[in-house]
Amino acid sequence: MKTLAGLTASPGIVAGRACVFRLPDLSCDPALFKPPAEEKNRLDKAFSSSKAELEKIKNTSSASLGEEYGHIFRAQMTILEDDDFRAEMYDRIDQGSCRAETAVDAVYKTYEGLFSGMDEDSYNAQRLADLSDVCKRVQRNLLGIEEHSLSSLPPESIVAAVELFPSDTVLMDKKNIRGFVTEKGGLTSHVAILAKSLSLPAAVGTAGIMNQVEENDDVVLDLRDFEKALVYVNPAGEKKAELEKAADQYRRRQEELFRMKDLECVTVDGKKIVVSANIGSIGDLVNAVEFGAKSVGLFRTEFLFLGGNLPDEEEQYRVYAEAAKKLNGGMLIIRTLDIGGDKEVKALALQKEKNPFLGLRGIRLCLKYEDLFLTQLRALLRAAVHGDIRIMFPMISSLTEFRRAKELAAKAAAELAGRAVPYRPDPPLGVMIETPAAVLLADELSGEAAFVSMGTNDLTQYMLCVDRDNGEVSSYYQTLSPALLRAVGMTGAAAEKNGIWAGVCGELAGNPLALPVLVGLGVEELSVAPQLIPQTVARIRSLSRAACRETAKKAASLSTEDEVKAYLASVQ
Ligand code: PEP
Ligand code: MG
Repeated sequence: MKTLAGLTASPGIVAGRACVFRLPDLSCDPALFKPPAEEKNRLDKAFSSSKAELEKIKNTSSASLGEEYGHIFRAQMTILEDDDFRAEMYDRIDQGSCRAETAVDAVYKTYEGLFSGMDEDSYNAQRLADLSDVCKRVQRNLLGIEEHSLSSLPPESIVAAVELFPSDTVLMDKKNIRGFVTEKGGLTSHVAILAKSLSLPAAVGTAGIMNQVEENDDVVLDLRDFEKALVYVNPAGEKKAELEKAADQYRRRQEELFRMKDLECVTVDGKKIVVSANIGSIGDLVNAVEFGAKSVGLFRTEFLFLGGNLPDEEEQYRVYAEAAKKLNGGMLIIRTLDIGGDKEVKALALQKEKNPFLGLRGIRLCLKYEDLFLTQLRALLRAAVHGDIRIMFPMISSLTEFRRAKELAAKAAAELAGRAVPYRPDPPLGVMIETPAAVLLADELSGEAAFVSMGTNDLTQYMLCVDRDNGEVSSYYQTLSPALLRAVGMTGAAAEKNGIWAGVCGELAGNPLALPVLVGLGVEELSVAPQLIPQTVARIRSLSRAACRETAKKAASLSTEDEVKAYLASVQ
Protein backbone atom coordinates (compact mmCIF):
# COMPACT_ATOMS: atom_id res chain seq x y z
CA MET A 1 0.00 0.00 0.00
CA LYS A 2 1.19 3.52 -0.78
CA THR A 3 -0.14 6.70 0.78
CA LEU A 4 0.17 10.09 -0.88
CA ALA A 5 -0.88 13.50 0.33
CA GLY A 6 -2.51 16.20 -1.72
CA LEU A 7 -5.08 18.94 -1.43
CA THR A 8 -8.82 18.40 -1.16
CA ALA A 9 -10.38 20.17 -4.12
CA SER A 10 -13.76 18.50 -3.70
CA PRO A 11 -14.55 16.47 -0.57
CA GLY A 12 -15.73 12.90 -0.10
CA ILE A 13 -14.34 9.43 0.42
CA VAL A 14 -14.46 7.07 -2.45
CA ALA A 15 -12.89 3.85 -3.72
CA GLY A 16 -12.37 2.83 -7.31
CA ARG A 17 -9.91 1.59 -9.89
CA ALA A 18 -7.16 3.72 -11.33
CA CYS A 19 -7.46 4.97 -14.84
CA VAL A 20 -4.13 6.60 -15.62
CA PHE A 21 -4.47 9.41 -18.12
CA ARG A 22 -1.19 9.93 -19.96
CA LEU A 23 -0.65 11.83 -23.14
CA PRO A 24 0.78 9.32 -25.63
CA ASP A 25 4.37 9.48 -26.84
CA LEU A 26 4.07 9.90 -30.59
CA SER A 27 7.76 9.84 -31.39
CA CYS A 28 9.08 7.24 -33.86
CA ASP A 29 12.21 6.57 -35.92
CA PRO A 30 11.74 8.40 -39.27
CA ALA A 31 14.34 6.21 -40.97
CA LEU A 32 12.26 3.04 -40.63
CA PHE A 33 9.94 3.37 -43.60
CA LYS A 34 8.42 0.76 -45.90
CA PRO A 35 7.79 1.03 -49.68
CA PRO A 36 5.36 3.90 -50.53
CA ALA A 37 2.41 1.57 -51.32
CA GLU A 38 2.67 0.03 -47.87
CA GLU A 39 3.01 3.38 -46.12
CA LYS A 40 -0.08 4.65 -47.97
CA ASN A 41 -1.94 1.55 -46.94
CA ARG A 42 -0.98 2.16 -43.30
CA LEU A 43 -2.18 5.75 -43.66
CA ASP A 44 -5.57 4.62 -45.05
CA LYS A 45 -6.06 2.27 -42.13
CA ALA A 46 -5.16 4.97 -39.61
CA PHE A 47 -7.65 7.34 -41.27
CA SER A 48 -10.42 4.72 -41.00
CA SER A 49 -9.70 3.99 -37.33
CA SER A 50 -9.54 7.70 -36.54
CA LYS A 51 -12.86 8.30 -38.24
CA ALA A 52 -14.50 5.46 -36.34
CA GLU A 53 -13.18 6.86 -33.04
CA LEU A 54 -14.47 10.33 -33.83
CA GLU A 55 -17.88 9.00 -34.83
CA LYS A 56 -18.14 7.30 -31.45
CA ILE A 57 -17.06 10.38 -29.49
CA LYS A 58 -19.40 12.59 -31.52
CA ASN A 59 -22.36 10.38 -30.70
CA THR A 60 -21.50 10.18 -27.00
CA SER A 61 -20.96 13.91 -26.60
CA SER A 62 -24.09 14.84 -28.58
CA ALA A 63 -26.17 12.53 -26.41
CA SER A 64 -24.73 13.55 -23.07
CA LEU A 65 -23.88 17.21 -23.57
CA GLY A 66 -25.94 18.42 -26.51
CA GLU A 67 -25.62 18.82 -30.24
CA GLU A 68 -23.23 21.76 -30.01
CA TYR A 69 -20.53 19.52 -28.55
CA GLY A 70 -21.19 16.91 -31.22
CA HIS A 71 -20.42 19.55 -33.86
CA ILE A 72 -16.84 19.91 -32.66
CA PHE A 73 -16.15 16.32 -33.60
CA ARG A 74 -18.19 16.48 -36.77
CA ALA A 75 -15.86 19.28 -37.92
CA GLN A 76 -12.86 17.03 -37.26
CA MET A 77 -14.43 14.17 -39.19
CA THR A 78 -14.83 16.45 -42.21
CA ILE A 79 -11.07 16.91 -42.28
CA LEU A 80 -10.59 13.14 -42.46
CA GLU A 81 -13.12 12.92 -45.28
CA ASP A 82 -11.23 15.47 -47.36
CA ASP A 83 -9.56 13.54 -50.21
CA ASP A 84 -7.21 16.41 -51.07
CA PHE A 85 -5.90 16.40 -47.52
CA ARG A 86 -5.00 12.72 -47.74
CA ALA A 87 -3.60 13.18 -51.25
CA GLU A 88 -1.13 15.72 -49.87
CA MET A 89 0.15 13.05 -47.52
CA TYR A 90 0.39 10.48 -50.33
CA ASP A 91 2.49 13.01 -52.27
CA ARG A 92 4.88 13.39 -49.36
CA ILE A 93 5.25 9.62 -49.09
CA ASP A 94 5.88 9.30 -52.85
CA GLN A 95 8.30 12.19 -53.03
CA GLY A 96 10.27 11.50 -49.92
CA SER A 97 9.89 7.74 -49.46
CA CYS A 98 9.09 8.40 -45.86
CA ARG A 99 7.00 6.97 -43.06
CA ALA A 100 3.31 7.84 -43.06
CA GLU A 101 3.86 9.46 -39.64
CA THR A 102 6.44 11.82 -41.16
CA ALA A 103 4.06 12.70 -43.99
CA VAL A 104 1.26 13.56 -41.53
CA ASP A 105 3.64 15.74 -39.59
CA ALA A 106 4.93 17.53 -42.68
CA VAL A 107 1.44 18.29 -43.98
CA TYR A 108 0.32 19.57 -40.57
CA LYS A 109 3.36 21.86 -40.41
CA THR A 110 2.50 23.34 -43.81
CA TYR A 111 -0.96 24.30 -42.56
CA GLU A 112 0.41 25.55 -39.31
CA GLY A 113 2.68 27.91 -41.26
CA LEU A 114 -0.21 29.08 -43.42
CA PHE A 115 -2.58 29.66 -40.54
CA SER A 116 -0.07 31.34 -38.30
CA GLY A 117 0.41 33.94 -41.04
CA MET A 118 -3.25 34.79 -40.59
CA ASP A 119 -3.47 34.63 -36.82
CA GLU A 120 -6.02 36.74 -34.93
CA ASP A 121 -8.64 35.07 -37.09
CA SER A 122 -10.52 32.94 -34.66
CA TYR A 123 -12.10 30.73 -37.30
CA ASN A 124 -8.74 29.75 -38.75
CA ALA A 125 -7.24 29.27 -35.33
CA GLN A 126 -10.05 26.91 -34.46
CA ARG A 127 -9.54 25.00 -37.70
CA LEU A 128 -5.84 24.69 -36.87
CA ALA A 129 -6.67 23.32 -33.41
CA ASP A 130 -8.99 20.78 -35.05
CA LEU A 131 -6.32 19.90 -37.57
CA SER A 132 -3.76 19.39 -34.83
CA ASP A 133 -6.11 17.08 -32.93
CA VAL A 134 -6.90 15.11 -36.06
CA CYS A 135 -3.25 14.72 -37.05
CA LYS A 136 -2.30 13.52 -33.57
CA ARG A 137 -5.15 11.05 -33.69
CA VAL A 138 -3.97 9.68 -37.05
CA GLN A 139 -0.37 9.44 -35.82
CA ARG A 140 -1.47 7.60 -32.70
CA ASN A 141 -3.38 5.12 -34.82
CA LEU A 142 -0.40 4.70 -37.13
CA LEU A 143 1.66 3.75 -34.10
CA GLY A 144 -1.05 1.40 -32.90
CA ILE A 145 -1.48 3.25 -29.59
CA GLU A 146 -4.94 2.91 -28.10
CA GLU A 147 -7.01 5.98 -27.47
CA HIS A 148 -7.04 6.99 -23.85
CA SER A 149 -9.58 9.71 -23.46
CA LEU A 150 -11.80 10.68 -20.59
CA SER A 151 -14.90 10.42 -22.73
CA SER A 152 -15.21 6.70 -22.26
CA LEU A 153 -14.05 5.24 -18.96
CA PRO A 154 -14.45 1.83 -17.34
CA PRO A 155 -16.91 1.73 -14.42
CA GLU A 156 -15.75 3.03 -11.02
CA SER A 157 -12.81 4.90 -12.49
CA ILE A 158 -10.59 7.13 -10.47
CA VAL A 159 -8.72 9.19 -13.01
CA ALA A 160 -5.08 9.97 -12.27
CA ALA A 161 -3.42 12.63 -14.41
CA VAL A 162 -0.58 15.10 -14.30
CA GLU A 163 -3.05 17.89 -14.84
CA LEU A 164 -6.57 18.30 -16.15
CA PHE A 165 -8.14 21.31 -17.80
CA PRO A 166 -11.75 22.45 -17.91
CA SER A 167 -11.96 21.42 -21.57
CA ASP A 168 -10.91 17.84 -20.62
CA THR A 169 -13.75 17.61 -18.19
CA VAL A 170 -16.35 18.76 -20.72
CA LEU A 171 -16.04 15.36 -22.34
CA MET A 172 -15.50 13.34 -19.20
CA ASP A 173 -17.54 10.18 -18.88
CA LYS A 174 -19.58 11.35 -15.91
CA LYS A 175 -21.37 8.04 -15.49
CA ASN A 176 -18.27 6.04 -14.76
CA ILE A 177 -15.93 8.44 -13.05
CA ARG A 178 -15.84 8.29 -9.25
CA GLY A 179 -13.21 10.90 -8.62
CA PHE A 180 -9.87 12.17 -9.76
CA VAL A 181 -6.42 12.86 -8.49
CA THR A 182 -3.91 15.11 -10.20
CA GLU A 183 -0.24 15.70 -9.67
CA LYS A 184 -0.50 19.43 -10.32
CA GLY A 185 -3.20 22.01 -9.80
CA GLY A 186 -4.32 24.21 -6.96
CA LEU A 187 -7.38 24.23 -4.77
CA THR A 188 -9.23 26.86 -6.69
CA SER A 189 -8.17 25.93 -10.19
CA HIS A 190 -11.23 25.81 -12.38
CA VAL A 191 -10.99 22.09 -12.82
CA ALA A 192 -11.23 21.76 -9.04
CA ILE A 193 -14.33 23.94 -9.07
CA LEU A 194 -15.82 21.84 -11.82
CA ALA A 195 -15.22 18.71 -9.76
CA LYS A 196 -17.12 20.28 -6.89
CA SER A 197 -20.02 21.27 -9.05
CA LEU A 198 -20.20 17.69 -10.31
CA SER A 199 -20.01 16.44 -6.69
CA LEU A 200 -16.97 14.47 -7.70
CA PRO A 201 -14.32 13.88 -5.01
CA ALA A 202 -11.06 15.32 -6.29
CA ALA A 203 -7.52 15.64 -4.96
CA VAL A 204 -5.12 18.04 -6.63
CA GLY A 205 -1.44 18.83 -6.01
CA THR A 206 -0.75 15.18 -5.21
CA ALA A 207 2.98 14.97 -5.88
CA GLY A 208 4.23 11.63 -7.19
CA ILE A 209 0.88 10.08 -8.04
CA MET A 210 1.80 9.36 -11.65
CA ASN A 211 4.83 7.31 -10.57
CA GLN A 212 3.03 5.49 -7.80
CA VAL A 213 -0.13 4.33 -9.48
CA GLU A 214 -0.72 1.88 -12.30
CA GLU A 215 -3.74 1.18 -14.44
CA ASN A 216 -6.42 -0.76 -12.51
CA ASP A 217 -4.77 -0.33 -9.12
CA ASP A 218 -7.23 -0.04 -6.24
CA VAL A 219 -7.37 3.59 -5.19
CA VAL A 220 -9.13 5.22 -2.26
CA LEU A 221 -9.47 9.00 -2.09
CA ASP A 222 -9.97 10.01 1.51
CA LEU A 223 -10.99 13.62 1.13
CA ARG A 224 -13.02 14.15 4.26
CA ASP A 225 -10.65 16.76 5.55
CA PHE A 226 -10.70 20.14 3.80
CA GLU A 227 -7.13 20.80 4.83
CA LYS A 228 -5.54 17.56 3.63
CA ALA A 229 -6.24 14.93 1.00
CA LEU A 230 -5.04 11.36 1.47
CA VAL A 231 -4.73 9.11 -1.53
CA TYR A 232 -4.24 5.36 -0.90
CA VAL A 233 -2.98 3.10 -3.64
CA ASN A 234 -3.79 -0.58 -3.12
CA PRO A 235 -4.81 -0.33 0.54
CA ALA A 236 -4.91 -3.71 2.25
CA GLY A 237 -5.82 -5.43 5.50
CA GLU A 238 -6.87 -3.27 8.43
CA LYS A 239 -6.44 -0.02 6.55
CA LYS A 240 -8.77 -1.16 3.83
CA ALA A 241 -11.43 -2.17 6.34
CA GLU A 242 -11.01 1.12 8.19
CA LEU A 243 -11.46 3.11 4.98
CA GLU A 244 -14.53 1.13 4.01
CA LYS A 245 -16.06 1.86 7.40
CA ALA A 246 -15.21 5.55 7.11
CA ALA A 247 -16.76 5.72 3.66
CA ASP A 248 -19.90 4.16 5.02
CA GLN A 249 -20.08 6.63 7.92
CA TYR A 250 -19.42 9.55 5.62
CA ARG A 251 -22.22 8.49 3.32
CA ARG A 252 -24.63 8.18 6.24
CA ARG A 253 -23.69 11.62 7.55
CA GLN A 254 -24.22 13.10 4.09
CA GLU A 255 -27.66 11.49 3.93
CA GLU A 256 -28.49 12.90 7.34
CA LEU A 257 -27.42 16.39 6.25
CA PHE A 258 -29.32 15.99 3.02
CA ARG A 259 -32.53 15.59 4.98
CA MET A 260 -31.87 19.01 6.57
CA LYS A 261 -31.35 20.82 3.28
CA ASP A 262 -34.73 22.55 3.20
CA LEU A 263 -34.68 23.89 6.75
CA GLU A 264 -34.62 27.65 7.10
CA CYS A 265 -31.10 29.05 7.08
CA VAL A 266 -31.07 31.28 10.10
CA THR A 267 -28.66 31.65 13.01
CA VAL A 268 -29.80 30.82 16.55
CA ASP A 269 -30.18 34.57 17.21
CA GLY A 270 -32.38 35.08 14.18
CA LYS A 271 -30.08 36.40 11.43
CA LYS A 272 -31.09 35.06 8.05
CA ILE A 273 -28.17 34.04 5.85
CA VAL A 274 -28.77 33.18 2.21
CA VAL A 275 -27.02 30.02 1.08
CA SER A 276 -26.87 29.82 -2.71
CA ALA A 277 -25.25 27.52 -5.23
CA ASN A 278 -22.31 28.01 -7.54
CA ILE A 279 -23.09 26.52 -10.94
CA GLY A 280 -21.60 26.37 -14.41
CA SER A 281 -24.39 24.75 -16.39
CA ILE A 282 -28.03 23.74 -16.33
CA GLY A 283 -26.92 20.26 -15.28
CA ASP A 284 -25.26 21.77 -12.22
CA LEU A 285 -28.41 23.70 -11.44
CA VAL A 286 -30.52 20.56 -11.51
CA ASN A 287 -28.01 18.98 -9.15
CA ALA A 288 -28.02 22.09 -6.94
CA VAL A 289 -31.81 22.11 -6.64
CA GLU A 290 -31.62 18.49 -5.49
CA PHE A 291 -29.21 19.60 -2.78
CA GLY A 292 -31.73 22.21 -1.65
CA ALA A 293 -30.60 25.33 -3.57
CA LYS A 294 -33.26 28.04 -3.75
CA SER A 295 -30.92 30.58 -5.31
CA VAL A 296 -27.71 30.78 -7.32
CA GLY A 297 -24.99 33.15 -6.16
CA LEU A 298 -22.66 32.52 -9.07
CA PHE A 299 -23.43 31.15 -12.50
CA ARG A 300 -20.06 30.91 -14.24
CA THR A 301 -21.09 31.45 -17.83
CA GLU A 302 -17.69 30.82 -19.35
CA PHE A 303 -18.26 27.08 -19.34
CA LEU A 304 -20.78 27.73 -22.16
CA PHE A 305 -17.93 29.10 -24.21
CA LEU A 306 -15.39 26.32 -23.72
CA GLY A 307 -16.93 23.87 -26.17
CA GLY A 308 -15.27 25.25 -29.32
CA ASN A 309 -17.97 27.56 -30.70
CA LEU A 310 -19.04 30.92 -29.33
CA PRO A 311 -22.69 30.70 -28.29
CA ASP A 312 -24.86 33.35 -30.00
CA GLU A 313 -27.52 35.50 -28.31
CA GLU A 314 -30.31 32.99 -28.91
CA GLU A 315 -28.33 30.07 -27.53
CA GLN A 316 -27.31 32.02 -24.43
CA TYR A 317 -30.81 33.38 -23.93
CA ARG A 318 -32.19 29.83 -23.91
CA VAL A 319 -29.73 28.68 -21.26
CA TYR A 320 -30.18 31.71 -18.97
CA ALA A 321 -33.97 31.64 -19.35
CA GLU A 322 -34.08 27.92 -18.60
CA ALA A 323 -31.99 28.48 -15.48
CA ALA A 324 -34.31 31.27 -14.31
CA LYS A 325 -37.37 29.10 -14.85
CA LYS A 326 -35.81 26.18 -12.99
CA LEU A 327 -35.30 28.42 -9.97
CA ASN A 328 -38.96 29.43 -9.83
CA GLY A 329 -38.32 33.07 -9.03
CA GLY A 330 -35.31 32.41 -6.79
CA MET A 331 -32.36 34.80 -7.10
CA LEU A 332 -30.09 33.89 -10.02
CA ILE A 333 -26.81 35.80 -10.16
CA ILE A 334 -25.26 35.37 -13.56
CA ARG A 335 -21.67 36.43 -13.94
CA THR A 336 -20.65 37.84 -17.28
CA LEU A 337 -17.95 36.07 -19.21
CA ASP A 338 -14.79 35.68 -17.14
CA ILE A 339 -12.21 34.18 -19.44
CA GLY A 340 -8.49 34.58 -19.61
CA GLY A 341 -6.36 33.31 -16.72
CA ASP A 342 -6.61 29.51 -16.76
CA LYS A 343 -9.81 29.53 -18.81
CA GLU A 344 -8.87 29.42 -22.42
CA VAL A 345 -11.57 29.83 -25.03
CA LYS A 346 -10.27 28.16 -28.15
CA ALA A 347 -12.86 29.82 -30.38
CA LEU A 348 -11.50 33.26 -29.47
CA ALA A 349 -7.90 32.39 -30.32
CA LEU A 350 -6.54 34.87 -27.83
CA GLN A 351 -2.86 35.59 -27.87
CA LYS A 352 -0.78 33.77 -25.30
CA GLU A 353 0.16 36.08 -22.48
CA LYS A 354 3.15 35.91 -20.18
CA ASN A 355 1.03 36.61 -17.11
CA PRO A 356 -2.49 35.57 -18.06
CA PHE A 357 -3.91 36.16 -14.57
CA LEU A 358 -2.72 39.76 -14.83
CA GLY A 359 -3.70 40.09 -18.44
CA LEU A 360 -6.75 40.44 -20.60
CA ARG A 361 -9.14 38.74 -18.22
CA GLY A 362 -12.74 39.05 -17.04
CA ILE A 363 -14.26 42.49 -17.48
CA ARG A 364 -11.17 43.77 -19.31
CA LEU A 365 -11.69 41.29 -22.09
CA CYS A 366 -15.41 42.07 -22.31
CA LEU A 367 -14.74 45.79 -22.50
CA LYS A 368 -12.29 45.15 -25.33
CA TYR A 369 -14.57 42.80 -27.27
CA GLU A 370 -17.73 44.86 -26.94
CA ASP A 371 -19.77 42.82 -29.42
CA LEU A 372 -19.12 39.66 -27.48
CA PHE A 373 -20.15 41.45 -24.28
CA LEU A 374 -23.22 43.11 -25.76
CA THR A 375 -24.41 39.77 -27.14
CA GLN A 376 -24.25 38.29 -23.66
CA LEU A 377 -25.88 41.31 -22.06
CA ARG A 378 -28.78 41.23 -24.52
CA ALA A 379 -29.29 37.53 -23.82
CA LEU A 380 -29.26 38.25 -20.07
CA LEU A 381 -31.73 41.14 -20.27
CA ARG A 382 -34.09 39.03 -22.34
CA ALA A 383 -33.81 36.08 -19.96
CA ALA A 384 -34.40 38.38 -16.99
CA VAL A 385 -38.14 38.49 -17.75
CA HIS A 386 -38.29 34.84 -16.66
CA GLY A 387 -37.10 35.28 -13.09
CA ASP A 388 -34.95 37.18 -10.62
CA ILE A 389 -31.81 37.44 -12.73
CA ARG A 390 -29.05 39.68 -11.45
CA ILE A 391 -25.93 40.43 -13.41
CA MET A 392 -22.47 40.40 -11.85
CA PHE A 393 -19.22 41.69 -13.36
CA PRO A 394 -15.92 39.88 -12.63
CA MET A 395 -12.39 41.22 -12.07
CA ILE A 396 -13.43 44.81 -11.44
CA SER A 397 -10.50 46.90 -10.25
CA SER A 398 -11.86 50.41 -10.74
CA LEU A 399 -15.09 52.32 -10.63
CA THR A 400 -14.51 53.33 -14.25
CA GLU A 401 -14.74 49.70 -15.38
CA PHE A 402 -17.95 49.17 -13.45
CA ARG A 403 -19.46 52.34 -14.86
CA ARG A 404 -18.51 51.33 -18.40
CA ALA A 405 -20.02 47.87 -17.86
CA LYS A 406 -23.24 49.55 -16.69
CA GLU A 407 -23.24 51.80 -19.77
CA LEU A 408 -22.93 48.75 -21.97
CA ALA A 409 -25.81 47.07 -20.15
CA ALA A 410 -27.87 50.18 -20.93
CA LYS A 411 -26.69 50.04 -24.54
CA ALA A 412 -27.77 46.39 -24.77
CA ALA A 413 -31.19 47.41 -23.47
CA ALA A 414 -31.40 50.19 -26.07
CA GLU A 415 -30.55 47.68 -28.81
CA LEU A 416 -33.33 45.43 -27.63
CA ALA A 417 -35.79 48.32 -27.52
CA GLY A 418 -35.78 48.36 -31.31
CA ARG A 419 -36.73 44.69 -31.50
CA ALA A 420 -40.02 42.97 -30.78
CA VAL A 421 -38.69 40.87 -27.89
CA PRO A 422 -39.54 41.12 -24.20
CA TYR A 423 -36.66 42.11 -21.93
CA ARG A 424 -35.99 43.65 -18.56
CA PRO A 425 -34.01 46.89 -19.00
CA ASP A 426 -32.76 47.25 -15.44
CA PRO A 427 -31.94 44.06 -13.52
CA PRO A 428 -29.75 44.57 -10.42
CA LEU A 429 -26.07 44.94 -11.35
CA GLY A 430 -23.41 43.76 -8.92
CA VAL A 431 -19.66 43.68 -8.61
CA MET A 432 -17.31 40.87 -7.74
CA ILE A 433 -14.79 41.94 -5.17
CA GLU A 434 -11.78 39.89 -6.14
CA THR A 435 -8.95 42.36 -6.59
CA PRO A 436 -7.21 44.26 -3.77
CA ALA A 437 -8.18 47.51 -5.52
CA ALA A 438 -11.86 46.56 -5.36
CA VAL A 439 -11.52 45.94 -1.60
CA LEU A 440 -10.00 49.37 -1.10
CA LEU A 441 -12.74 50.87 -3.28
CA ALA A 442 -15.50 48.76 -1.74
CA ASP A 443 -17.17 51.84 -0.30
CA GLU A 444 -17.36 53.62 -3.66
CA LEU A 445 -18.34 50.44 -5.52
CA SER A 446 -21.04 49.62 -2.97
CA GLY A 447 -22.41 53.11 -3.48
CA GLU A 448 -23.14 52.29 -7.13
CA ALA A 449 -23.79 48.54 -7.08
CA ALA A 450 -26.91 46.59 -6.16
CA PHE A 451 -24.79 43.98 -4.35
CA VAL A 452 -21.20 42.82 -4.02
CA SER A 453 -19.89 39.28 -3.90
CA MET A 454 -16.38 38.39 -2.88
CA GLY A 455 -14.45 36.10 -5.18
CA THR A 456 -12.04 34.88 -2.56
CA ASN A 457 -10.31 32.50 -4.96
CA ASP A 458 -8.89 35.37 -6.95
CA LEU A 459 -8.78 37.73 -4.01
CA THR A 460 -6.40 35.31 -2.26
CA GLN A 461 -4.34 34.98 -5.42
CA TYR A 462 -4.05 38.72 -5.97
CA MET A 463 -3.66 39.79 -2.34
CA LEU A 464 -1.02 37.23 -1.51
CA CYS A 465 0.56 37.25 -4.98
CA VAL A 466 0.28 33.50 -5.35
CA ASP A 467 -0.85 31.62 -8.45
CA ARG A 468 -4.09 29.81 -7.59
CA ASP A 469 -3.24 26.94 -9.95
CA ASN A 470 0.32 26.29 -9.00
CA GLY A 471 0.77 23.36 -6.62
CA GLU A 472 4.39 24.43 -6.02
CA VAL A 473 3.23 27.49 -4.11
CA SER A 474 0.07 26.10 -2.58
CA SER A 475 1.40 26.59 0.95
CA TYR A 476 1.44 30.32 0.23
CA TYR A 477 -2.17 30.26 -0.92
CA GLN A 478 -3.62 31.06 2.47
CA THR A 479 -7.34 31.69 2.33
CA LEU A 480 -7.45 32.12 6.09
CA SER A 481 -4.64 34.64 6.20
CA PRO A 482 -5.51 37.54 8.52
CA ALA A 483 -4.92 39.77 5.48
CA LEU A 484 -7.79 38.05 3.70
CA LEU A 485 -10.05 38.20 6.72
CA ARG A 486 -9.43 41.92 7.08
CA ALA A 487 -10.26 42.42 3.39
CA VAL A 488 -13.52 40.51 3.85
CA GLY A 489 -14.29 42.65 6.92
CA MET A 490 -13.65 45.89 5.01
CA THR A 491 -15.93 44.79 2.20
CA GLY A 492 -18.69 43.65 4.58
CA ALA A 493 -18.57 46.97 6.42
CA ALA A 494 -18.59 49.01 3.19
CA ALA A 495 -21.61 47.11 1.90
CA GLU A 496 -23.48 47.55 5.17
CA LYS A 497 -22.71 51.28 5.21
CA ASN A 498 -24.18 51.64 1.73
CA GLY A 499 -27.25 49.55 2.49
CA ILE A 500 -26.49 46.63 0.17
CA TRP A 501 -25.60 43.04 0.94
CA ALA A 502 -22.17 41.42 0.62
CA GLY A 503 -21.73 37.77 -0.27
CA VAL A 504 -18.87 35.35 -0.77
CA CYS A 505 -18.85 33.11 -3.83
CA GLY A 506 -15.24 31.89 -3.70
CA GLU A 507 -14.43 28.45 -2.30
CA LEU A 508 -13.88 29.94 1.14
CA ALA A 509 -17.67 30.18 1.53
CA GLY A 510 -17.85 26.38 1.71
CA ASN A 511 -15.02 25.93 4.19
CA PRO A 512 -16.59 24.91 7.54
CA LEU A 513 -13.73 26.46 9.48
CA ALA A 514 -14.30 29.85 7.89
CA LEU A 515 -18.09 30.01 8.26
CA PRO A 516 -18.35 31.69 11.69
CA VAL A 517 -15.77 34.29 10.67
CA LEU A 518 -17.54 35.15 7.42
CA VAL A 519 -20.88 35.53 9.18
CA GLY A 520 -19.18 37.62 11.86
CA LEU A 521 -17.56 39.87 9.25
CA GLY A 522 -20.92 40.89 7.84
CA VAL A 523 -21.33 38.39 4.99
CA GLU A 524 -25.04 37.81 4.35
CA GLU A 525 -24.91 35.45 1.42
CA LEU A 526 -22.72 32.39 0.88
CA SER A 527 -22.57 30.76 -2.48
CA VAL A 528 -21.13 27.26 -2.36
CA ALA A 529 -20.78 24.12 -4.45
CA PRO A 530 -24.16 22.31 -4.58
CA GLN A 531 -23.04 19.34 -2.52
CA LEU A 532 -21.95 21.67 0.30
CA ILE A 533 -25.36 23.36 0.69
CA PRO A 534 -26.81 20.95 3.28
CA GLN A 535 -23.79 21.08 5.59
CA THR A 536 -23.50 24.87 5.25
CA VAL A 537 -27.16 25.34 6.19
CA ALA A 538 -26.83 22.92 9.10
CA ARG A 539 -23.74 24.73 10.40
CA ILE A 540 -25.29 28.21 10.17
CA ARG A 541 -28.31 27.00 12.12
CA SER A 542 -25.95 26.17 14.97
CA LEU A 543 -24.21 29.57 15.04
CA SER A 544 -25.03 32.75 16.91
CA ARG A 545 -24.29 35.90 14.95
CA ALA A 546 -23.29 37.77 18.07
CA ALA A 547 -20.75 35.06 18.92
CA CYS A 548 -19.58 35.03 15.30
CA ARG A 549 -18.80 38.74 15.53
CA GLU A 550 -16.54 38.07 18.52
CA THR A 551 -14.88 35.15 16.76
CA ALA A 552 -14.33 37.23 13.62
CA LYS A 553 -12.88 40.15 15.54
CA LYS A 554 -10.41 37.92 17.30
CA ALA A 555 -9.49 35.91 14.18
CA ALA A 556 -8.86 39.03 12.07
CA SER A 557 -6.64 40.48 14.79
CA LEU A 558 -4.26 37.49 14.75
CA SER A 559 -0.96 37.65 12.93
CA THR A 560 -0.62 34.46 10.90
CA GLU A 561 -2.81 31.93 9.13
CA ASP A 562 -1.59 29.19 11.47
CA GLU A 563 -2.80 31.21 14.44
CA VAL A 564 -6.16 31.78 12.74
CA LYS A 565 -6.56 28.09 11.98
CA ALA A 566 -5.63 27.02 15.48
CA TYR A 567 -7.99 29.58 17.00
CA LEU A 568 -10.89 28.63 14.72
CA ALA A 569 -10.37 24.93 15.38
CA SER A 570 -10.56 25.68 19.11
CA VAL A 571 -13.91 27.45 18.82
CA GLN A 572 -15.63 25.07 16.37
C1 PEP B 1 -13.34 33.72 -7.30
O1 PEP B 1 -12.36 34.21 -7.86
O2 PEP B 1 -13.41 33.52 -6.07
C2 PEP B 1 -14.52 33.31 -8.06
C3 PEP B 1 -15.61 32.92 -7.48
O3 PEP B 1 -14.41 33.32 -9.41
P1 PEP B 1 -13.57 32.23 -10.25
O4 PEP B 1 -13.18 31.14 -9.32
O5 PEP B 1 -14.46 31.75 -11.34
O6 PEP B 1 -12.41 33.02 -10.74
MG1 MG C 1 -12.54 34.95 -9.86
